[in-house]
Amino acid sequence: MKKIYLDNAATTQLRPEVISEMVNVLQNDFGNPSSTHSFGRSAKTILETSRKTIAKCMGCAAQELIFTSNATEASNWILKNAVKDLKIERIITSKIEHHATLYTVNHLQRVYGVAVDFVTILPNGTIDLAQLEALLQKEGKTLVTLMHVNNEIGTVLDIEKVGRLCHQYNALFHCDTVQSVGKTEFNLHELSVDFVVASAHKFHGPKGVGFVYVRKGIVLQPFLFGGEQEKGLRAGTEAVHQVAGMAKALALAYEHLDSDRAFISELKNYCESQLKLNFPGLKVNGGDTFYNILNVVLPFSEEKTAMILFNLDMKGIAVSRGSACQSGSVKPSHVLAEILLEEDLKKPSLRISFSHYNTKEDIEALIEGLRGV
Ligand code: PLP
Repeated sequence: MKKIYLDNAATTQLRPEVISEMVNVLQNDFGNPSSTHSFGRSAKTILETSRKTIAKCMGCAAQELIFTSNATEASNWILKNAVKDLKIERIITSKIEHHATLYTVNHLQRVYGVAVDFVTILPNGTIDLAQLEALLQKEGKTLVTLMHVNNEIGTVLDIEKVGRLCHQYNALFHCDTVQSVGKTEFNLHELSVDFVVASAHKFHGPKGVGFVYVRKGIVLQPFLFGGEQEKGLRAGTEAVHQVAGMAKALALAYEHLDSDRAFISELKNYCESQLKLNFPGLKVNGGDTFYNILNVVLPFSEEKTAMILFNLDMKGIAVSRGSACQSGSVKPSHVLAEILLEEDLKKPSLRISFSHYNTKEDIEALIEGLRGV
């Protein structure tokens, strides 16, 4: 049975060149980057060359990037640091953020008493910018944390506008760019953003590695104490092969961006039109969404909700019901709960997310699979 992977917002298949790069480092460069001999120096060079490659892709300075194990770690660190050390008194966020943000903000509210304001989500899944501006006018040292591309419905934040607003009112801006890094252009020095986070496994790189961009001039306290790695901010021997794999994956993502984006956009349009043709009454969740994520409410009865993913899985087709962590659960996603009417929330919603490895045949198999439910 041919397996079909349409869950690329959860994670992505590694590019073969990324695997080769990592194997090469594992075989030939096992030195500890902190060692001063040639083995160590060689590993250090890989680390710093990777940092420069990523900086070039992101439009920032290499010194502004810190390697982490993933975006969850990065967002936890930045948000906690902001409250404990940068003396942030209030966080503005939204109810459709990833749990890596929401649960951290929750913790900071409970333990440190930081004030939290939620910006309103409009019916199309975007944030109410006018209300954000009104919230920013309130007193108190503020940090805004809003995601760039929503991982469940694919809505896109106007990062440029939000950044400008934040800085106009002297607020710090943390942006979860996990779903957009490697999939759209960045020039961080031209954006008014203070922190962005990424995970390599979302752009055809390895799991267990990511990075955080921290705008020059912002002083953070260490996340992990120990050695001098990552300027003493995140101690511990670096995963050189992971970092090299991440840099290779990002460089390739940007090298192929134009053609991949055009190809994936066309696939998404094809999928949407075929779904609408085959399932009259099907609705798309979110308005104008990112080119690789399609979230739909199927015009199926409530009883079928729990069975759909299972049935598709039996046919070797992988899609998601919401964010990856909720797959298989019948609990409605916290994102859909914010934007859908009660009656649609009960119906099955599917998140279909594409990559350049998908084909029209994959979509046809999905349609066929759904027709059999
Ligand atoms: N933020 C967004 C928008 C995501 O989609 C994810 C992963 O699904 C994360 C954060 C967390 O990423 P990771 O699990 O790699 O730390």
